[in-house]
Amino acid sequence: MAQNEEKNIIIMGPPAAGKGTQSELIVKAYGLPHISTGDMFRSALKEQTPLGIEAGKYMAEGKLVPDEVTIGLVEERLSKEDCKNGFLLDGFPRTIPQAEALKAILAKMGRKITSVIVLEADDEELIARIAARRVCPKCGASYSLRNRKPKVEGICDNCGEEIILRQDDRPESFKVRLDDYRKKTLPLVDYYKKEGVVKEFDALESIESVFAQIQETIGLR
Ligand code: AMP
Repeated sequence: MAQNEEKNIIIMGPPAAGKGTQSELIVKAYGLPHISTGDMFRSALKEQTPLGIEAGKYMAEGKLVPDEVTIGLVEERLSKEDCKNGFLLDGFPRTIPQAEALKAILAKMGRKITSVIVLEADDEELIARIAARRVCPKCGASYSLRNRKPKVEGICDNCGEEIILRQDDRPESFKVRLDDYRKKTLPLVDYYKKEGVVKEFDALESIESVFAQIQETIGLR
């Protein structure tokens, strides 16, 4: 992709693939707004807006918020001034009807998705990675017992708190999240492959290496 072109990007990846880390790097490097529908629903819920209350009913049960609610929210967000040179969509689309709706919304603006970044790794590798992940419940710092150990075993370098395995990183919950991703997201990857915009990256390479490859794909700023 040439420089200065719009960067209308979607990022997808199974849990533990490093989507959060790469998203942060991308939005910082390219000055794009990070549009995470999960974050938007969580903040609407916190503020108890009508949309938040409605979405909260579904989120509490781990279900998808209905398409008409989600699509309306994304359409409104994409019409904002800060999206005019591009955006990074995270957590949307999650279904084929959402992908179709997104296409129609962008087409109305004379735009389209330019890249779909897919972070990939074998389930076995992701399970091993997650089993080694520890977080600090106090400051949120993240560690790996494989390659990013704290200086003192079991203790957060930043705040001295005991580091823990997150509840939803326990093997039983993690497998459910992983299966869910595989079932729901694979059709979307195929959908965007037909559009010729998918780029897959090996999520097990280092953060720097994955980001360098992403930059090569989406072009420099
Ligand atoms: P996330 O943080 O992306 O896992 O999203 C948290 C919750 O928000 C999900 O479990 C859904 O209930 C809801 N949600 C986020 N994105 C979508 C979407 N694209 N479609 C429907 N529901 C969504």
